[in-house]
Amino acid sequence: MTASQAKPLIAIHGGAGTMSRSLISATQEQAYHAAMRVIVLAAQQLLAGGGSALDAVSLAVDMLEDCPLFNAGHGAVFTHEATHELDAAVMDGATLRAGAVACISRVRRPLRAARAVMERSEHVLLVGAGAEAFAQACGLELVAPDYFSTELRREQLERALAADSTLLDHDAPALSFVGAHSGAAPIDEERKLGTVGAVALDERGNLAAATSTGGMTNKRVGRVGDSPLIGAGTYADNRTAAVSCTGTGELFMRSVAAYDLCARMAYAGQTLDAAAQEVVMKVLPAMGGRGGLIAIDARGNLSMPFNTEGMYRAFARLGETPQTAIFG
Ligand code: ASP
Repeated sequence: MTASQAKPLIAIHGGAGTMSRSLISATQEQAYHAAMRVIVLAAQQLLAGGGSALDAVSLAVDMLEDCPLFNAGHGAVFTHEATHELDAAVMDGATLRAGAVACISRVRRPLRAARAVMERSEHVLLVGAGAEAFAQACGLELVAPDYFSTELRREQLERALAADSTLLDHDAPALSFVGAHSGAAPIDEERKLGTVGAVALDERGNLAAATSTGGMTNKRVGRVGDSPLIGAGTYADNRTAAVSCTGTGELFMRSVAAYDLCARMAYAGQTLDAAAQEVVMKVLPAMGGRGGLIAIDARGNLSMPFNTEGMYRAFARLGETPQTAIFG
Protein backbone atom coordinates (compact mmCIF):
# COMPACT_ATOMS: atom_id res chain seq x y z
CA MET A 1 0.00 0.00 0.00
CA THR A 2 1.44 3.43 -0.86
CA ALA A 3 1.40 6.30 1.58
CA SER A 4 -1.42 8.08 -0.22
CA GLN A 5 -3.64 4.98 -0.06
CA ALA A 6 -3.11 4.31 3.63
CA LYS A 7 -6.11 4.94 5.84
CA PRO A 8 -5.72 7.69 8.43
CA LEU A 9 -4.78 6.19 11.78
CA ILE A 10 -4.53 7.34 15.39
CA ALA A 11 -2.75 5.45 18.18
CA ILE A 12 -2.33 6.45 21.82
CA HIS A 13 -0.59 5.18 24.94
CA GLY A 14 -1.09 5.93 28.61
CA GLY A 15 2.10 4.54 30.09
CA ALA A 16 3.68 1.14 30.64
CA GLY A 17 4.63 -0.86 33.71
CA THR A 18 4.08 -3.85 35.94
CA MET A 19 0.59 -5.20 35.83
CA SER A 20 -1.45 -6.51 38.69
CA ARG A 21 -4.42 -7.96 36.91
CA SER A 22 -5.47 -10.18 39.76
CA LEU A 23 -5.84 -7.20 42.08
CA ILE A 24 -8.19 -5.07 40.07
CA SER A 25 -11.86 -5.35 39.42
CA ALA A 26 -13.34 -5.62 35.98
CA THR A 27 -14.91 -2.21 36.60
CA GLN A 28 -11.56 -0.56 37.19
CA GLU A 29 -10.09 -2.19 34.12
CA GLN A 30 -13.09 -1.09 32.09
CA ALA A 31 -12.62 2.53 33.20
CA TYR A 32 -9.23 2.57 31.45
CA HIS A 33 -10.59 0.92 28.31
CA ALA A 34 -13.52 3.33 28.22
CA ALA A 35 -11.33 6.41 28.67
CA MET A 36 -8.99 5.32 25.89
CA ARG A 37 -11.89 4.49 23.57
CA VAL A 38 -13.45 7.94 23.97
CA ILE A 39 -10.12 9.63 23.23
CA VAL A 40 -9.32 7.51 20.18
CA LEU A 41 -12.84 8.03 18.83
CA ALA A 42 -12.50 11.80 19.10
CA ALA A 43 -9.18 11.78 17.23
CA GLN A 44 -10.55 9.34 14.66
CA GLN A 45 -13.47 11.68 14.02
CA LEU A 46 -11.10 14.61 13.56
CA LEU A 47 -9.09 12.62 11.00
CA ALA A 48 -12.29 11.54 9.26
CA GLY A 49 -13.18 15.19 8.77
CA GLY A 50 -9.90 15.79 6.96
CA GLY A 51 -8.07 16.98 10.07
CA SER A 52 -4.28 16.89 10.20
CA ALA A 53 -2.15 14.35 12.04
CA LEU A 54 -0.80 17.25 14.10
CA ASP A 55 -4.29 18.26 15.22
CA ALA A 56 -5.21 14.62 15.93
CA VAL A 57 -2.26 14.00 18.27
CA SER A 58 -2.83 17.39 19.92
CA LEU A 59 -6.47 16.58 20.61
CA ALA A 60 -5.70 13.08 21.91
CA VAL A 61 -3.00 14.35 24.28
CA ASP A 62 -5.21 17.23 25.45
CA MET A 63 -7.81 14.66 26.47
CA LEU A 64 -5.25 12.33 28.06
CA GLU A 65 -3.84 15.26 30.06
CA ASP A 66 -7.31 16.11 31.35
CA CYS A 67 -8.03 12.51 32.40
CA PRO A 68 -6.84 11.84 35.99
CA LEU A 69 -6.28 8.14 35.24
CA PHE A 70 -3.09 9.03 33.40
CA ASN A 71 0.15 10.64 34.57
CA ALA A 72 0.08 13.89 32.61
CA GLY A 73 -1.67 17.17 33.27
CA HIS A 74 -4.36 16.69 35.98
CA GLY A 75 -3.31 13.55 37.84
CA ALA A 76 0.42 14.01 37.25
CA VAL A 77 2.82 12.44 39.73
CA PHE A 78 4.67 14.34 42.47
CA THR A 79 8.35 15.20 42.62
CA HIS A 80 10.43 14.48 45.73
CA GLU A 81 9.43 17.94 47.04
CA ALA A 82 5.71 17.20 46.57
CA THR A 83 5.50 19.54 43.59
CA HIS A 84 4.62 18.84 39.96
CA GLU A 85 6.95 19.37 37.00
CA LEU A 86 5.49 18.57 33.64
CA ASP A 87 7.22 17.84 30.34
CA ALA A 88 5.73 17.66 26.82
CA ALA A 89 6.76 17.61 23.17
CA VAL A 90 5.20 17.58 19.73
CA MET A 91 6.71 16.97 16.30
CA ASP A 92 5.36 17.42 12.78
CA GLY A 93 6.62 14.69 10.46
CA ALA A 94 5.91 16.70 7.31
CA THR A 95 8.19 19.62 8.17
CA LEU A 96 10.38 18.19 10.99
CA ARG A 97 9.33 21.18 13.08
CA ALA A 98 9.19 20.41 16.81
CA GLY A 99 8.31 22.13 20.08
CA ALA A 100 8.74 21.13 23.70
CA VAL A 101 8.48 22.34 27.28
CA ALA A 102 9.99 20.93 30.45
CA CYS A 103 9.71 21.48 34.21
CA ILE A 104 6.54 23.55 34.02
CA SER A 105 3.98 23.57 36.80
CA ARG A 106 1.35 26.18 35.96
CA VAL A 107 0.22 25.53 32.39
CA ARG A 108 -2.98 23.50 32.40
CA ARG A 109 -2.24 21.71 29.14
CA PRO A 110 1.51 21.25 28.67
CA LEU A 111 1.16 19.87 25.15
CA ARG A 112 -0.45 23.12 24.01
CA ALA A 113 2.57 24.96 25.38
CA ALA A 114 4.86 22.64 23.41
CA ARG A 115 2.88 23.29 20.26
CA ALA A 116 3.05 27.04 20.85
CA VAL A 117 6.84 26.78 21.14
CA MET A 118 6.86 24.99 17.77
CA GLU A 119 4.50 27.36 16.00
CA ARG A 120 5.09 30.70 17.69
CA SER A 121 8.76 30.82 18.66
CA GLU A 122 12.05 30.26 16.90
CA HIS A 123 13.02 27.68 19.55
CA VAL A 124 12.45 23.99 20.12
CA LEU A 125 12.60 23.61 23.91
CA LEU A 126 11.66 26.07 26.65
CA VAL A 127 11.85 25.19 30.34
CA GLY A 128 10.55 26.35 33.72
CA ALA A 129 9.51 29.95 34.37
CA GLY A 130 10.49 31.06 30.87
CA ALA A 131 8.27 28.41 29.31
CA GLU A 132 5.39 29.42 31.56
CA ALA A 133 5.78 33.11 30.73
CA PHE A 134 5.81 32.24 27.03
CA ALA A 135 2.68 30.09 27.40
CA GLN A 136 0.95 32.92 29.24
CA ALA A 137 1.96 35.41 26.53
CA CYS A 138 0.43 33.00 23.99
CA GLY A 139 -2.86 33.12 25.89
CA LEU A 140 -2.73 29.58 27.24
CA GLU A 141 -4.63 28.75 30.41
CA LEU A 142 -2.60 28.88 33.63
CA VAL A 143 -3.66 27.09 36.81
CA ALA A 144 -2.48 26.94 40.41
CA PRO A 145 0.07 24.11 40.71
CA ASP A 146 -2.26 22.08 42.93
CA TYR A 147 -4.65 21.75 39.99
CA PHE A 148 -2.51 18.78 38.95
CA SER A 149 -2.66 17.05 42.35
CA THR A 150 -4.83 14.07 43.15
CA GLU A 151 -5.02 12.10 46.39
CA LEU A 152 -3.90 8.91 44.68
CA ARG A 153 -0.69 10.54 43.44
CA ARG A 154 -0.01 12.02 46.90
CA GLU A 155 -0.34 8.55 48.45
CA GLN A 156 2.08 7.24 45.83
CA LEU A 157 4.63 9.86 46.77
CA GLU A 158 4.27 9.03 50.44
CA ARG A 159 4.86 5.35 49.70
CA ALA A 160 7.82 6.14 47.48
CA LEU A 161 9.35 8.39 50.14
CA ALA A 162 8.87 5.73 52.81
CA ALA A 163 10.41 3.08 50.58
CA ASP A 164 13.42 5.24 49.82
CA SER A 165 14.19 5.77 53.44
CA THR A 166 13.83 2.18 54.54
CA LEU A 167 14.51 -0.11 51.61
CA LEU A 168 17.15 -0.49 48.99
CA ASP A 169 15.25 -2.79 46.69
CA HIS A 170 12.77 -0.64 44.77
CA ASP A 171 10.75 -3.56 43.54
CA ALA A 172 10.02 -5.19 46.87
CA PRO A 173 8.32 -2.16 48.46
CA ALA A 174 6.28 -1.67 45.36
CA LEU A 175 5.01 -5.20 45.56
CA SER A 176 4.03 -4.84 49.18
CA PHE A 177 1.95 -1.79 48.34
CA VAL A 178 -0.03 -3.52 45.64
CA GLY A 179 -3.62 -3.55 46.63
CA ALA A 180 -2.94 -1.35 49.64
CA HIS A 181 -5.30 1.25 48.27
CA SER A 182 -8.75 0.46 47.04
CA GLY A 183 -8.44 2.35 43.76
CA ALA A 184 -5.83 -0.05 42.37
CA ALA A 185 -5.24 0.42 38.66
CA PRO A 186 -4.67 -2.38 36.15
CA ILE A 187 -1.02 -1.47 35.95
CA ASP A 188 0.55 -1.22 39.39
CA GLU A 189 0.76 2.53 39.86
CA GLU A 190 3.92 2.24 41.96
CA ARG A 191 5.73 0.54 39.12
CA LYS A 192 3.88 2.04 36.21
CA LEU A 193 6.01 4.28 34.06
CA GLY A 194 3.28 6.74 33.31
CA THR A 195 3.24 9.19 30.45
CA VAL A 196 0.78 9.74 27.66
CA GLY A 197 1.37 9.97 23.96
CA ALA A 198 -0.18 9.84 20.53
CA VAL A 199 0.92 9.25 16.95
CA ALA A 200 -1.21 9.85 13.86
CA LEU A 201 -1.29 9.53 10.08
CA ASP A 202 -3.66 11.79 8.15
CA GLU A 203 -5.25 11.57 4.70
CA ARG A 204 -2.42 13.60 3.16
CA GLY A 205 0.11 11.00 4.33
CA ASN A 206 1.53 13.24 7.04
CA LEU A 207 2.71 11.89 10.40
CA ALA A 208 2.86 13.56 13.82
CA ALA A 209 3.83 12.53 17.35
CA ALA A 210 3.13 14.04 20.79
CA THR A 211 4.08 13.04 24.33
CA SER A 212 3.21 14.55 27.73
CA THR A 213 4.16 13.47 31.24
CA GLY A 214 4.43 14.28 34.91
CA GLY A 215 7.65 12.25 34.88
CA MET A 216 8.35 9.75 37.62
CA THR A 217 7.05 9.77 41.20
CA ASN A 218 9.62 11.05 43.67
CA LYS A 219 11.88 12.38 40.90
CA ARG A 220 14.42 15.02 41.85
CA VAL A 221 13.23 18.59 41.32
CA GLY A 222 14.66 19.87 38.04
CA ARG A 223 14.90 16.42 36.47
CA VAL A 224 13.89 16.29 32.81
CA GLY A 225 12.95 12.98 31.22
CA ASP A 226 12.97 11.71 27.66
CA SER A 227 9.44 12.83 26.73
CA PRO A 228 10.28 16.47 25.81
CA LEU A 229 13.61 15.58 24.20
CA ILE A 230 13.23 15.35 20.44
CA GLY A 231 14.68 12.03 19.30
CA ALA A 232 14.59 10.43 22.76
CA GLY A 233 10.91 10.16 23.76
CA THR A 234 9.28 11.83 20.77
CA TYR A 235 10.05 11.93 17.05
CA ALA A 236 8.22 12.17 13.71
CA ASP A 237 9.43 12.12 10.12
CA ASN A 238 7.12 11.35 7.19
CA ARG A 239 9.95 9.38 5.55
CA THR A 240 10.18 6.91 8.43
CA ALA A 241 7.86 7.01 11.44
CA ALA A 242 6.06 8.90 14.19
CA VAL A 243 7.08 7.63 17.63
CA SER A 244 6.02 8.33 21.23
CA CYS A 245 7.79 6.51 24.06
CA THR A 246 7.07 5.68 27.69
CA GLY A 247 9.39 4.17 30.24
CA THR A 248 12.52 4.74 32.28
CA GLY A 249 13.36 8.07 30.68
CA GLU A 250 17.08 8.14 31.34
CA LEU A 251 17.57 4.98 29.28
CA PHE A 252 15.43 6.28 26.43
CA MET A 253 17.59 9.40 26.47
CA ARG A 254 20.85 7.48 26.44
CA SER A 255 19.69 5.25 23.58
CA VAL A 256 17.98 8.13 21.69
CA ALA A 257 15.20 5.58 21.36
CA ALA A 258 12.64 7.32 19.13
CA TYR A 259 15.24 8.49 16.64
CA ASP A 260 17.04 5.15 16.72
CA LEU A 261 13.84 3.50 15.51
CA CYS A 262 13.60 5.96 12.60
CA ALA A 263 17.31 5.66 11.78
CA ARG A 264 17.01 1.88 11.58
CA MET A 265 14.28 2.32 8.98
CA ALA A 266 16.17 5.00 7.05
CA TYR A 267 19.68 3.59 7.07
CA ALA A 268 19.20 -0.14 7.50
CA GLY A 269 15.95 -0.50 5.58
CA GLN A 270 14.20 -2.18 8.52
CA THR A 271 10.43 -2.34 8.60
CA LEU A 272 8.60 -0.28 11.21
CA ASP A 273 7.89 -3.32 13.33
CA ALA A 274 11.39 -4.78 13.08
CA ALA A 275 12.90 -1.43 14.10
CA ALA A 276 10.44 -0.96 16.97
CA GLN A 277 10.98 -4.51 18.26
CA GLU A 278 14.73 -4.12 18.14
CA VAL A 279 14.69 -0.87 20.11
CA VAL A 280 12.24 -2.05 22.77
CA MET A 281 13.17 -5.72 23.08
CA LYS A 282 16.93 -5.56 22.54
CA VAL A 283 18.55 -2.13 22.76
CA LEU A 284 16.68 -0.84 25.81
CA PRO A 285 16.71 -4.05 27.92
CA ALA A 286 20.44 -4.44 27.28
CA MET A 287 20.93 -1.11 29.05
CA GLY A 288 18.33 -1.81 31.76
CA GLY A 289 15.59 0.24 30.10
CA ARG A 290 11.95 -0.62 30.75
CA GLY A 291 8.88 0.58 28.90
CA GLY A 292 7.47 0.70 25.42
CA LEU A 293 6.49 2.89 22.51
CA ILE A 294 3.86 3.42 19.87
CA ALA A 295 4.94 3.98 16.27
CA ILE A 296 3.30 4.32 12.88
CA ASP A 297 4.63 4.90 9.38
CA ALA A 298 3.19 6.67 6.35
CA ARG A 299 2.00 3.36 4.90
CA GLY A 300 -0.30 2.90 7.87
CA ASN A 301 1.76 0.23 9.63
CA LEU A 302 1.50 0.27 13.41
CA SER A 303 3.77 -1.15 16.10
CA MET A 304 3.24 -0.96 19.88
CA PRO A 305 5.90 -3.08 21.60
CA PHE A 306 6.65 -2.97 25.33
CA ASN A 307 9.03 -4.93 27.53
CA THR A 308 6.96 -4.50 30.71
CA GLU A 309 3.94 -6.61 31.56
CA GLY A 310 1.47 -4.01 30.39
CA MET A 311 1.05 -0.78 28.48
CA TYR A 312 -2.18 1.19 28.19
CA ARG A 313 -2.71 1.52 24.46
CA ALA A 314 -5.37 2.01 21.81
CA PHE A 315 -5.69 2.70 18.11
CA ALA A 316 -8.25 3.25 15.39
CA ARG A 317 -8.04 3.34 11.62
CA LEU A 318 -10.55 5.39 9.70
CA GLY A 319 -13.93 3.68 9.59
CA GLU A 320 -12.85 0.87 11.91
CA THR A 321 -13.77 0.10 15.51
CA PRO A 322 -11.17 1.34 18.01
CA GLN A 323 -9.09 -1.34 19.70
CA THR A 324 -7.93 -0.87 23.30
CA ALA A 325 -5.55 -3.04 25.33
CA ILE A 326 -3.63 -3.02 28.60
CA PHE A 327 -1.90 -6.36 29.04
CA GLY A 328 0.42 -8.33 26.79
N1 ASP B 1 9.47 8.49 30.27
C1 ASP B 1 8.90 9.29 31.31
C2 ASP B 1 9.98 10.04 32.02
O1 ASP B 1 11.04 9.49 32.19
C3 ASP B 1 8.15 8.52 32.32
C4 ASP B 1 7.26 7.49 31.78
O2 ASP B 1 7.12 7.29 30.60
O3 ASP B 1 6.61 6.85 32.58
O4 ASP B 1 9.73 11.14 32.45
